Amino acid sequence: MSNTFDVLIVGAGPAGSFAAERLASAKVRVALFDGRPQGEPKACGGGVTSKALKAWPHLLEAVGRTVDELEMYSPTGKRLHMKLAEPFAIYSRRAFDSFLRERAKEAGAHVFHERVSFQKRANESENWTVRGATSGEEWSGPMIVAADGASSRIARELAGPLPPAEMEVAFGYRAPLPVAKSAAAKARSNSAKEQDAQTVDESAPTVVAFLPNWAGYAWAFPRVDHISFGIATTQEAFDHDSLDRILWDFMIGYYRMREDKRANLWRARARDRERDARIKDELARSADRYAARIPGLTVKTWDVRRTCGEGWALLGDAAGFADPVTGEGIYYALRSAELFAETYLEGNPLRYESRWREDFGKELRRAAEMRRRFYGNFWGAPFTERMIEFARAHTGIRKILGELVAGEQGYTDLKRKLARRAIWPF
Ligand SMILES: Cc1cc2nc3c(=O)[nH]c(=O)nc-3n(C[C@H](O)[C@H](O)[C@H](O)COP(=O)(O)OP(=O)(O)OC[C@H]3O[C@@H](n4cnc5c(N)ncnc54)[C@H](O)[C@@H]3O)c2cc1C
Repeated sequence: MSNTFDVLIVGAGPAGSFAAERLASAKVRVALFDGRPQGEPKACGGGVTSKALKAWPHLLEAVGRTVDELEMYSPTGKRLHMKLAEPFAIYSRRAFDSFLRERAKEAGAHVFHERVSFQKRANESENWTVRGATSGEEWSGPMIVAADGASSRIARELAGPLPPAEMEVAFGYRAPLPVAKSAAAKARSNSAKEQDAQTVDESAPTVVAFLPNWAGYAWAFPRVDHISFGIATTQEAFDHDSLDRILWDFMIGYYRMREDKRANLWRARARDRERDARIKDELARSADRYAARIPGLTVKTWDVRRTCGEGWALLGDAAGFADPVTGEGIYYALRSAELFAETYLEGNPLRYESRWREDFGKELRRAAEMRRRFYGNFWGAPFTERMIEFARAHTGIRKILGELVAGEQGYTDLKRKLARRAIWPF
């Protein structure tokens, strides 16, 4: 087999695999590289909005869990239960990424499980070359696509580095699903045999909780066989020890509330002490930590950053395409892949730049403008506190919030909608 391809795609996350599938289906010769060790998942909450599920219904064939109820908590612990008109899905990234990679392979893309390095070419008439880090093998082609994630080396070389402050930090733990309430009570008092018979709580809620005194939020996303807990915040605000303590409080509060509905998520009562100590102990033994970055570009960078040139393009996180308010990036990874493939197949890949700007660029830029206010104050309390309070009291605001979660409510007309209801600090 020749090692020359029409398109070299580095990174088989959602962006790379989806672009590979689209191009290979149109008979483009595609080489897709991924260096992630087999079975190691990308650090991610795995939440995929209903907007994405509607755009690409085949995503529902990947093994995951659809969610139509969400619990949101304000920074002081006020709870808002939402029944979502548009369900979203939560995937293990191991399952999601391999599903998309297999589709690329079936469409005819050549998939190489190897980390590759890349060298800038001397001039535009030359092919790009990438080299396998372990095999030393080389592959070449006239188009290189960087889909190699938030720390993309290729993006740094071709579009320049991003300022460190334009990276959100996200970290968390993968932990066991809670044990169903009746089984938990049994397990506390009984034998090892009964403990083996514990059943996991399949109704474990999906939770998003805004952080007390910090920009950002914590999440609990139950998946098929575990829960992904995490915190996303800005680099500016990052203080690892304090945030790790907050995340542990959140995780303990989550399991506490499964056992006692009247408990508070953030504040433990004196009578919770013993149970909390047990939960903490169990989590310390079973939880598995992960951490990674999410791009969070500023308005200025949105305006000047280039994402393609003669013979190259950046997709997904490598391009900086994540929502600066929420850190959501999977939709933009997929959509950027789709737009790039369209422009390539039309014979004008340089149009990719204007295509994504028209399509979702305005939204992400607007989100960058709003970010500080979203996590700032409004009427003497954090805006997130007020938003949960208002949504508890008004169906209209609850509906807007539900649409935001679904990915159906954009940022560009959010102001108009919320201003009508007198909740708008922006
Ligand atoms: C903790 C956390 C939680 C998140 N939660 C959510 C969420 O719930 N919902 C959501 O929408 N978004 C979430 N995001 C963001 C989301 O993970 C990313 O936006 C998304 O994965 C971007 O997809 P991508 O294909 O561009 O890059 P990635 O998914 O990062 O894929 C890049 C791939 O490139 C490979 N690679 C890198 N370098 C090389 C190389 N030199 N050679 C070969 N392969 C290489 C990597 O192994 C990787 O597989 C979260 C991010 C983090 C960090």
